[in-house]
Amino acid sequence: MSLPKPLIIGNWKMHGLSAELETLVRALAKRHAETPKPGTLGICPPFTLLIPAKAVLQGSGILLGGQTCHAKGQGAFTGDISAAMLADAGCEIVLLGHSERRAGLGETDADVKAKAEATLSAGLTPVVCIGETEDQYVAGETLDVLGAQIDGSLPDGADAERLVVAYEPIWAIGTGRTPTMDEIAKVHAFIGERLAAAGVSGTPVLYGGSVKPDNAAAILALDGVDGVLVGGASLKVDDFFTIYAAGAGTAA
Ligand code: PEP
Repeated sequence: MSLPKPLIIGNWKMHGLSAELETLVRALAKRHAETPKPGTLGICPPFTLLIPAKAVLQGSGILLGGQTCHAKGQGAFTGDISAAMLADAGCEIVLLGHSERRAGLGETDADVKAKAEATLSAGLTPVVCIGETEDQYVAGETLDVLGAQIDGSLPDGADAERLVVAYEPIWAIGTGRTPTMDEIAKVHAFIGERLAAAGVSGTPVLYGGSVKPDNAAAILALDGVDGVLVGGASLKVDDFFTIYAAGAGTAA
């Protein structure tokens, strides 16, 4: 079953101790219960918080996600986690191929594809992240880079109902800078066409990179933007909920 749009997903990265179960997770669930909006709200906290976060989120309608997984279901892979383990912890989505993992840990398109296939096998929805570096952006290579990442990273047997793509220009992540609205719209149109050519027309495409309360409404209003992937601002309940509310076209 496809996830209702817009999708507003928070990527906590390597942030969050158990104290944040109250100050962030419970507080978000409370806001959501008080003023529910159309769309899908989800958070991807660190692995250590998944099971207790699931308990807090029970019945809230807020999705839980992992930040990566291994391509294998189990085995001698010290320090890794499988998609089946994420499913067992209550996750419904998994972020894959985030640029911090592609750049910092050498994840390739082939790795992302294998992980996405493992994610689907475990019954979860992969959120495949793609994006260009600043040098590639300046050189006008953005669409070529994204096209190659889409072709190389999508799982075999992909189905638009169980796939999400997140466009995150690497130079916009955590920098406070974003492409122009026109650039975002053009890139999303290109991604939509490429996904259609790959047989997964209608796959939700999120934008990520310095989404904040003051730019969320404009970004979410763009054609082809089906939601946002939010890093820093997802660690502040007010900011994150304001972004979620912006997606519904209402003030928080
Ligand atoms: C991210 O890391 O996925 C991200 C979009 O971060 P930020 O919102 O902080 O730019």
